[in-house]
Amino acid sequence: MKIITLSNGNNVEVECLSCAITSGIIIPDGGVVYESEHFHVHQDVAYPIKGLMIVASKRHVKCLDELTEEKKFDYINVLSKIRQAQREILGIKYVYYFYNEDTTHHFHTWMVPRYDWMYEFGRSVESVRPILLHARNQMNHKENVLEVMAAIDCLTKELDR
Ligand SMILES: [Zn+2]
Repeated sequence: MKIITLSNGNNVEVECLSCAITSGIIIPDGGVVYESEHFHVHQDVAYPIKGLMIVASKRHVKCLDELTEEKKFDYINVLSKIRQAQREILGIKYVYYFYNEDTTHHFHTWMVPRYDWMYEFGRSVESVRPILLHARNQMNHKENVLEVMAAIDCLTKELDR
């Protein structure tokens, strides 16, 4: 079991966070943003950044090459659908995509929007960890959390069309 700190400061103990979320044991803030046959999309539970979406496989697999042809196709379509909604609804110009296989959670891709305020932490991959920590430690205030929730709501509505 692993203890996960959620963005609201609460801790949860789970075997696999992705399984817990995709099966509905843990409901992330704002709930399900989008769901396809094989993937589940939700706001990241640990970092309060507007439009930071997680695309998680519904099945407990770890590696990209474990996906069937059908799931690979579904995966890339879900990613592009979310990407388009981030652009059209939230005006997000660039997104960083992360996915690491050596995690205790299962297959999930982070879609981290790039905002102007992030450039003070530098560029490219090395800036991401400081940005995430800054968000967790400094942006967990009501005003930002309300913005994050509003963004979830807008994305969910757009993707439901
Ligand atoms: Zn899992």
